[in-house]
Amino acid sequence: MKKRVFSGIRPTGRIHLGNYLGAVQNYVAMQDEYDCIYCVVDIHALTTLEDTHLLKDNVREQMIDLLAAGLDPDKCILFVQSHVPEVTELFTLLGMATPLSWLLRVPTFKEKAKQQPHNVNYGLVGYPVLMTADIVLYKAEAVPVGEDQLPHLELAREIVRRFNDQFGPTFPEPKGKLTSFPMVVGLDGRDKMSKSLNNHIELAATPEETMKKVMSAVTDPARRLRSDPGHPEVCNIYKLQKHFSPAIVDEIASECQSASRGCVDCKKQLGAAINEYLAPLRARRAEIAADQAYIDKVIKEGAEKARAIARVTMVEVKQKMGLL
Ligand code: ADP
Repeated sequence: MKKRVFSGIRPTGRIHLGNYLGAVQNYVAMQDEYDCIYCVVDIHALTTLEDTHLLKDNVREQMIDLLAAGLDPDKCILFVQSHVPEVTELFTLLGMATPLSWLLRVPTFKEKAKQQPHNVNYGLVGYPVLMTADIVLYKAEAVPVGEDQLPHLELAREIVRRFNDQFGPTFPEPKGKLTSFPMVVGLDGRDKMSKSLNNHIELAATPEETMKKVMSAVTDPARRLRSDPGHPEVCNIYKLQKHFSPAIVDEIASECQSASRGCVDCKKQLGAAINEYLAPLRARRAEIAADQAYIDKVIKEGAEKARAIARVTMVEVKQKMGLL
């Protein structure tokens, strides 16, 4: 039997290069070898979104991005989290096996509580429990994620261990699966690439927008003049070059170190390389977006397939917990 894989992505906007390089490229790569289930986690988005009028559109945009990136609904299950309500039931039940102290010490909770002090909601502290419910509802063993999600996954493993100890072996302990680019730094060269920091490039951006964003990126901060030798190992643009211009990456490093390549030229070439890389994806995206009936069908059938698995797990969980 194939190993089961699960991962989710929040519909807080369209997919960016950080999501793609850190996680989504693995979603696509794992489709053939594993039994993959991928989800647009709209309920998770509610933990931080106060204005939700764009949520439905963003769910759809993200579905289109995932399909354009190469997810094939004939090979994997692709669905929207809230369309499988069993997950909220499991979230409640797992909550009974999760000490509050574990959740209060999660660094991202503390960070988010600082960022939105007026909206430290119950869902925010429960985020890792809902994430655990997402994964274990399908008894997934591997979870393709970016490095930022590893602490949440560690907590998911602790919750699973505790549940299994208390109620008997039920769920496998899920393990994270990283790509070769597990942490993409944003164009500011400082923080992780993220929609909320606006330091990102969307897969669906136009070539012009992409070039403009790349040209605004921070490079080696020690390189002030064109004639200063650069330090590729500390330069965020160089990290992206490794992915997007692999054939000339050694040349780029030595030209940067000898100052024969300037940052402006380097960024222009990177922008062009990103645009070339994303061109087929963007063309596929335009085709998919034009076929609304196809998107509806994918979303509907994905939920049906996911729900069939979820129902079976819930019967087992309820029996184990003494509810049935
Ligand atoms: P965001 O952080 O942009 O709001 P999500 O939290 O929904 O997006 O993350 C979706 C997936 O993308 C997760 O697996 C996450 O680890 C990964 N990811 C997000 N940002 C980055 C990044 N800058 N580098 C690597 N992976 C990332």
